[in-house]
Amino acid sequence: MKERRGIEGRARAVEGRRVRFVASTRAVDRHGTIVEPGGIRTERFDRNPVFLWGHDGYGGFSAPNPENVIGRVTGHAVENDQFIIEAEFTPEGVNERADMLYRLVMDGFLNAVSIGFYPLRQREDVIEGRAVTVFEEVELLDVSLVPIPSNPEALAVMRAVARAAGEVELRGTVPRDISKETAPEGESWRKPTLADFTDQSWDELSVAAKNRIARHYAWAPQLPPERFADQRLPHHRPSDGAVVWRGVRAAMAALLGARGGVDIPDEDRRRVYNHLAAHYRQFDKEPPEFKAYSEQELRDMLEAVDKGEAEAAAPDTADIAAVLRGLKRRINELLED
Ligand SMILES: [Zn+2]
Repeated sequence: MKERRGIEGRARAVEGRRVRFVASTRAVDRHGTIVEPGGIRTERFDRNPVFLWGHDGYGGFSAPNPENVIGRVTGHAVENDQFIIEAEFTPEGVNERADMLYRLVMDGFLNAVSIGFYPLRQREDVIEGRAVTVFEEVELLDVSLVPIPSNPEALAVMRAVARAAGEVELRGTVPRDISKETAPEGESWRKPTLADFTDQSWDELSVAAKNRIARHYAWAPQLPPERFADQRLPHHRPSDGAVVWRGVRAAMAALLGARGGVDIPDEDRRRVYNHLAAHYRQFDKEPPEFKAYSEQELRDMLEAVDKGEAEAAAPDTADIAAVLRGLKRRINELLED
């Protein structure tokens, strides 16, 4: 069985003929189904990431028409429960159909993409009194531009990300909190390892288990994260998800450590900041201003007034070291300018 799900969007002028589709596919679609954005497997698709017109990559009674290969998918990510793709249309003059479709997209006449997939795991659910099939895990087969998508409720925005070098970097994701409970303020903190969460290896974990772990962190490149080490800025207690004040503070210091305090795309920093600032308020603390801080200011933030507390905060030395390394890099850059 091959399934198709669509998303809607709007386009905006873009450089390099790349178009980004941000989809909200968690809504129940016309088929009465839901595709879990975090459960879309892309390993196989990534080896042949075609961008098609109308799913015509297989041919019906004849060979598929090559004109319907209108580009390639240059990136994808899961962000806030949305599956996002970025597609690059073929260079101008190579494929007339692609040129026409690209113009239709840019002028706002075509707005929708649709994904083709094989279901891998699913469950039946009842949502608002309606029987719904939830595809928990699917394998992505193709991404197509289509006139009408099957997911009418999903509101998506197509966005172009133009980079000077033509390089496109998809933004990562700020996972939802695993828990809103707070640990006692004096709770000590150390950066968790995988063993703090599970006895299994990362690859053995289910998508749901990986996503559960990711929600202890303030940033991940995608959900589920490909590797445990991809996640950034942990601040929830592995045992029960409670927010740990010292973890929040260390994460904030790393985030505000200019460029290189922590390697998170610049576009994501504000959202990570908002996440951490909300935790500051949970502990009745005023969050620091959203800006890059000097080494001394960061030290003040990390080290408490009282030496005893400073030592308790020290276990997160990896983050502190990263902050200092980032500052050194930044200073060197400034000297070179
Ligand atoms: Zn959090």
